[in-house]
Amino acid sequence: MIGFLQEIFNLFKPHVTLDLRTHNGIAPKARGIPAYKGDLSHCTDCKKCEAICPTHCIEVQSDKISFDYGACLQCSLCSDVCENNSILESGFVDVYSARRDDLKVNYNSSGILESRKDLPEAMDILKDDPIYKLVHKNGFNFREVCAGSNTGVEWEIGASYNNVFDMENIGVRVVASPKHADILLVSGPISENMHHGLNVAWDSMAKPRAIIAMGTEAVSGGLWKHGIFPETPKFWIAGDPPRPDVMIRAFLTFMGRRDFDFKLKWLEFLKQGT
Ligand code: SF4
Ligand code: SF4
Repeated sequence: MIGFLQEIFNLFKPHVTLDLRTHNGIAPKARGIPAYKGDLSHCTDCKKCEAICPTHCIEVQSDKISFDYGACLQCSLCSDVCENNSILESGFVDVYSARRDDLKVNYNSSGILESRKDLPEAMDILKDDPIYKLVHKNGFNFREVCAGSNTGVEWEIGASYNNVFDMENIGVRVVASPKHADILLVSGPISENMHHGLNVAWDSMAKPRAIIAMGTEAVSGGLWKHGIFPETPKFWIAGDPPRPDVMIRAFLTFMGRRDFDFKLKWLEFLKQGT
């Protein structure tokens, strides 16, 4: 009887599942990727940020500074060491794209250097791919391979299926065998010992199929030497590890159900001021 009353009570409780279609990627309590303030006149060219970065993803030159956000651990060592406050924590955690090079950003005194109007939006390069047509319509099943990961990604994948995030609700399901998977989700830098296993998993998959690199280690190697994928990933999701809400927004983007282009959104964000 008590259980029955409890169930009735539950009907009137507010939902706990986040609506990640509207939830944005700015997380004030997260450090996020570092933002360059866009005024090289303040930069003394001391290169302390470059020297302290554990993944060597910053390059300081006299006329520009470059960040590879696909290799960034979002640790904020660079912003902490910069005595001129030229580098700031941003809270921006949505770092993913169909194009690996889009996660690399150059700045000069007027902001981001590359002209985005010359490039198609990142997702356009996927539109004619058979895997895109499949996942856009049906969602997808994935098999994850931990290829030397520190297991942070695995913890967050587990969390993404709890009742707060409810990832299956967007049509993304975990399967135990690569034979049943559309997507091979790879975490970790692809260590030598996992190279063979990763290839076996890939060879077991039916076509169309694709690889998604999940986490900074898979995208760039992170702190480690980067191994070789069986095939170039179709989507790159950085973060050490990406949080469940980031994974879900990234998957919605990959499936073409959400409009997001990393470089455009980052530029927009910087223009609003950090
Ligand atoms: S630590 Fe700051 S001042 Fe020094 S090179 Fe880096 S951005 Fe410039
Ligand atoms: S890894 Fe850390 S030090 Fe390097 S760019 Fe990212 S936040 Fe800065």
